[in-house]
Amino acid sequence: MNLILFGPPAAGKGTQAKRLTAERGYVQLSTGDMLRAARKSGSELGQKVAAIMDSGSLVSDEIVIALIEDALAQNKTAPGFIFDGFPRTVAQAEALDAMLARHGKQIDRVVQLEVDSQQLLDRVAKRFAEEGRADDNPESYKVRLNAYLAQTAPLIPYYEQKNKLRGVDGMAGIEDVATSIAAAIDAR
Ligand code: ADP
Repeated sequence: MNLILFGPPAAGKGTQAKRLTAERGYVQLSTGDMLRAARKSGSELGQKVAAIMDSGSLVSDEIVIALIEDALAQNKTAPGFIFDGFPRTVAQAEALDAMLARHGKQIDRVVQLEVDSQQLLDRVAKRFAEEGRADDNPESYKVRLNAYLAQTAPLIPYYEQKNKLRGVDGMAGIEDVATSIAAAIDAR
């Protein structure tokens, strides 16, 4: 099972991806986590993307596609992948389909976390106060949400046409969201 967790920034994709990893042994591939790790390590890549990330804009397709390509090559025996925060553009989705095909794999399901934008703003304001992630500040979050609407939302029809998209209510509690995601994955 290769799955994309889809939804706007701060919809709870990372939380649910970690649960699925623990419960099913799937490998979580989060480009946001990979880019943050690159920054922490002080690598050339990390330095290159830092300002873009803090502003809330997307880094280039080329960079994130290369990260995913490496991760797929390093996890050849994984029982499944959960893509979290990737793909975020149609070009990334097309590249992902091509990369998976080279490994004899495909995307089986795209689970969309449906969330209310006002509640998202409240969540992010709270997370910014608690964790201080630079791109959670209100200005950057606005840029992230706009990037989602302009560049990422077009993936909804992309996966709908392939009949892979399933929606779940992302505003329920963490346990209930997890139950709905499990049902969406296991339904034929
Ligand atoms: P969120 O919490 O908003 O879901 P992520 O942790 O996935 O955010 O990503 C944080 C930032 O990293 C993004 O705002 C963007 O700058 C960069 N990033 C992560 N994944 C991608 C991607 N697939 N394409 C382009 N930029 C990305």
